[in-house]
Amino acid sequence: MFESLQERLGATFSRLGGKKTLDENNIKEGLREVRLALLEADVNFKVVKRFVDQVKERALGDEVLKGLEPGQHFIKIVNEELIELLGGEQQDLDLKARPLKLMMVGLQGSGKTTSSGKIALFLRKQHGKKPYLVPADVYRPAAIDQLNTLARQLDVPVYPSTTDMNPVDICKDALVKAEELGCDLILFDTAGRLHIDEKLMDELANIKRECQPQEILFVADAMTGQDAVTVAESFNDKLGITGVVLTKMDGDARGGAALSIKTVTGRSVKFVGVGEKLSELELFHPDRIASRILGMGDMMTLIEKAQSEIDEEEAKALAEKMAKAEFDFEDFLGHMRKLKKLGSMEGLLKMIPGMGNIMKQLGDNALPEDEMKRTEAIISSMTLKERRQPELLKNASRKDRIARGSGVKIADVNALIKNFKQMSKVMQSMMGGGDGKKKKGLFG
Ligand code: GDP
Repeated sequence: MFESLQERLGATFSRLGGKKTLDENNIKEGLREVRLALLEADVNFKVVKRFVDQVKERALGDEVLKGLEPGQHFIKIVNEELIELLGGEQQDLDLKARPLKLMMVGLQGSGKTTSSGKIALFLRKQHGKKPYLVPADVYRPAAIDQLNTLARQLDVPVYPSTTDMNPVDICKDALVKAEELGCDLILFDTAGRLHIDEKLMDELANIKRECQPQEILFVADAMTGQDAVTVAESFNDKLGITGVVLTKMDGDARGGAALSIKTVTGRSVKFVGVGEKLSELELFHPDRIASRILGMGDMMTLIEKAQSEIDEEEAKALAEKMAKAEFDFEDFLGHMRKLKKLGSMEGLLKMIPGMGNIMKQLGDNALPEDEMKRTEAIISSMTLKERRQPELLKNASRKDRIARGSGVKIADVNALIKNFKQMSKVMQSMMGGGDGKKKKGLFG
């Protein structure tokens, strides 16, 4: 997800990054690239236009912040606008509501049933909720069976729906049953069709009216791109959705749905599905996704995932170092070694700033595991002093020694240093650029 967008934006930014001045001409050129990159990622054309206009206005109008080069300033603007595009501030579910009623809606096959199970598990684990699952799709017996199976796996009670029942009655009665069982989270898994269907919409509207769910979550398959956005719009018109669950983000969707849905429907993505397993659900954080898209990695999600390996103090120190652009090769190495214990290398690697680019430059044949070993070998061949002061690596004989020591070509060492340097610059502009103080980067 987002790979090609990341690649194109990365190329644009490295061209602009070094510029000492930004004028209307090179801003225009940069914006043209951003526009093409977004269109190629299947972002809705109206959304793209609005986005580009917004960035342009700010790039020409805003004063460049002290301590930032104009190129970095441009990246900062794009980052902020991307966060806005992805939904701005994350809006939480109303967890105090008792019971919290979530109505899952969407087309057939979008991942409603799976997501119902995932959200039940997530909210039980994270917030101690007691879920109750309600199969309200009586048209496909398999749908009832599927939710029953998930309920058994999760050891969660489920309403005994049968195909001869009326979905509205099911949902109403489920409210009573949930209360009897002491459940405080009710998930209505409603019916879907292959296309929008008036009769179904009426039924959903009736369920809404009778059960008053706090949240109507539209479940969309990210792989369907702009179609998902169009369908979201109709569901929103008919039902008034409160948020979106974007599934199959683990596939090779280009990202257009994630980037367009907020602007088109006014509703944000709240959860993303990242696999078929019930545990494969994440909260959607616009700021983190924006940094992933801009090739800065997603250190926050990574840090959370690594919490079992890294203690809190260490994680905090790491975040501080990043903000001050003091993150050096020694930190990088230490972090990488811990990650090895966490499995699923490719996904994790992409969250490390700059690593996406490193992987790309090494080509498709390079397996993440191999790449990790190679990167580790290169950094291990540096002296501690070199790791702490990467500027020493400007010296050719040092690089030669490191290449020989780690059994790679000098070009590989150069590539690693170059990417690290670029990452350091971008990180500085995004995390530490706003306070007016000129910060000295790792490379002087
Ligand atoms: P529903 O018809 O909307 O209830 O959709 P289902 O929950 O039955 O999901 C349809 C298919 O998509 C199933 O094979 C799921 O395993 C799969 N699926 C759902 N969410 C995800 C996801 O986040 N990633 C992947 N890879 N598959 C998913």
